[in-house]
Amino acid sequence: MDTATERSRTRSETPARTLRGTAVVAGVGYGPALHARGEVSPSALAAYGTGGFADVEAALAAYDSAAAEVAAGFQDKAARATGHTAEVMAASAGLATDRGLRGAVRKNLRADEDLLASLHGAVEQFAEAFAQMGGLMAERATDLRDIERRLVARLLGEPEPGVPTPDRPSVLVAEDLAPADTAGLDPTLVRALVTERGGPTSHTAIIARQLGIPCVVGVADLMEVEPGTPLLVDGTTGEVELAPDEADAQRRSEAAALARAAHDAWTGPGRTSDGVAVKILANVADGESATSAASAPVEGVGLFRTELCFLNQSVEPSVEEQAAVYEEVLGAFGDRGHVVVRTLDAGSDKPVAFATLQGEENPALGVRGLRLSFGNPGLMERQLDAIASAARSTGTETWVMAPMVATVAEAADFGAKVRSRGLKAGVMVEVPSAALLSHRMLEEVDFLSIGTNDLTQYTMAADRMATDLAHLTDAWQPAVLQLIAITAAAGREAGKPVGVCGEAAADPLLACVLVGMGVTSLSMAAAAARPVGATLAGTTIDQCGEAAELALAAADPESARAAVLSFLG
Ligand code: PEP
Ligand code: MG
Repeated sequence: MDTATERSRTRSETPARTLRGTAVVAGVGYGPALHARGEVSPSALAAYGTGGFADVEAALAAYDSAAAEVAAGFQDKAARATGHTAEVMAASAGLATDRGLRGAVRKNLRADEDLLASLHGAVEQFAEAFAQMGGLMAERATDLRDIERRLVARLLGEPEPGVPTPDRPSVLVAEDLAPADTAGLDPTLVRALVTERGGPTSHTAIIARQLGIPCVVGVADLMEVEPGTPLLVDGTTGEVELAPDEADAQRRSEAAALARAAHDAWTGPGRTSDGVAVKILANVADGESATSAASAPVEGVGLFRTELCFLNQSVEPSVEEQAAVYEEVLGAFGDRGHVVVRTLDAGSDKPVAFATLQGEENPALGVRGLRLSFGNPGLMERQLDAIASAARSTGTETWVMAPMVATVAEAADFGAKVRSRGLKAGVMVEVPSAALLSHRMLEEVDFLSIGTNDLTQYTMAADRMATDLAHLTDAWQPAVLQLIAITAAAGREAGKPVGVCGEAAADPLLACVLVGMGVTSLSMAAAAARPVGATLAGTTIDQCGEAAELALAAADPESARAAVLSFLG
C-alpha cells in the first residue's frame, strides 16, 4: 500500500479526534480547515539561487521594488481597515520600507552575501533587538518576520503568504497569524480561527475579539491536520474536534449562531436575570476608541490606558497637552457614566520613551507603573493635574487608579494625592500582594480594579506574552481565582466597588463566576460587551454564586470551565 493510500485509509477509519488549546473568543464555528499559505516553495527557492545580480546596486534595486510592492499591499489593507488594525497595517508598511532595514541589507550585500541571505541577516538583527525589548515591542519581531516572508515571495515572483480568500465558510488554520493576515477577515466566511502558537494577548486573539470570530490559540499538533478536514471549534472550551458527526456539529454551530443573535440584541444596562446591577464598562486607549466605545451598550469606561496615548513620545507632554488628550476620552462619555483613568503604566510590555527606565534586567518585575513615580514624583503629580483639569472642563465623573500597586502605603499615598484633587481614588489589583491585602487597601482608597492579565502573570510567574506558557497564563487557574475571590469579598465587606478590567471580564462564562464572587463591574473591549451582558442577563445572582463555587473548587482551568459550562448550560 502506498503511503498516501495508507494515510487516507487511516484517516477515514480513525474516530473523531479532539485537539485542545486556549479558548480566547467564545462561540462555535464549523467548517473545513483552510490553511493559511505558508513559506515559498523549495523548488522556487532553488531556482532563484543567489539571484544572479550583476552587482550590489542591482540586487538593492530588486530589494527596493519588492519592498515597495509589500508596502503597497499593507497600505491597501490599512485603507480597508479601521482603528487599531489600520494603524498596525500602516506601521507594517513603514517597516517594509524602513531605511535602517535597507541599510542593513546593503551592508550585508557589500560583505558579499547574496540578497536572500542579506535580507535574512538584516531581519534577524532587527527582530532580535525588538525581542529583547520584550512585551509589545516583541510583537514587532513577528511583524518583521512576516515582512521577510512577503519580501522573499515577491523576489521569487510567488504570491505573498497569508490567508487565501475562502470560497465557502471555513475554519482558518495557521501556525500563527500576523496582523496582515487577520486584517480584513470576513466573519461570514471565516467561521472560526485556530492557531498552533499564540496566547490570549496575541495579535490573533485581539483581532478575533474585535471581529467576534470564535477563536482558540496554542493548539498543539494543529498543523498536522489535513486541509479540508471538517473542524468544530469551540471558543468557550478551547476544543477543536476533527471530523465530528456532521449533524451534531451543524446543530451546535446553529445553536451558537442563535445565541449570538440574542447577544447582538442586548442593549444593557448590565443586570443579572433577577435584577442585580453589574456595570458593563469599556476599556479604551484614546479619544478615537472612546468615541467608538460610546456607541456600545456600556455604562462608562472601566480602564483608560493612558500610556497608550504616549507610546511614541520621547518628551513628556505638558500638563495642558495631556489634559487635551484626556478631555477627548472624558468628553466622549459626558453624562453616559463614569470614566476610570489609569495613571501611566509605562514599562515592561509598554515602553514609553519619556518615562521608562532603560536597561532593566527584568522589566516586568522592575520599575513599571506606579513605581516610576518613586524616582520621578513630578511625573505623577503632573499627570494627576492634567486628569483633574480634564475632569473639570468636561464635567465627566472621573475616577483615577494606579497600576502595579504592591503595598498598602503605596495605596494610601496615591489615594491622598488623588483625593486632594477632588477625584475618586482606586488601585489596580495586579500583584498578588495587593489581592492578599485588599481589605487594608480598601481602607485607603474608594475602589479596586482587578487587572487579571498581570495578576495571572505574577501569580503563575509566567510571562503573559509567552506562547509556550499559555496554559499557565489562564485566569481560570485556581490560584488566580482564589485571589480574585479574596479581593471581591473585601469589597463586599467594605461596601466599596471592586471591578475586573483584565481580559477575564470579556469571557462570558468567567464573567458570571466573577459576579458570583462579588465583583461589581466588568470592563472589556467594547466588542465583548454584548456577549457578556447578554449572558449575565440570562443568569440569576444565585447561579453566578454557585458557578463561582464550582470554579473555585475545580482542580485546574479545564475542569473549572467544564463544571461552570455544564452548570450554566
Ligand atoms: C491587566 O493587567 O489585567 C490590565 C488590565 O492591565 P494591562 O493589560 O494594561 O497591563
Ligand atoms: Mg496590567
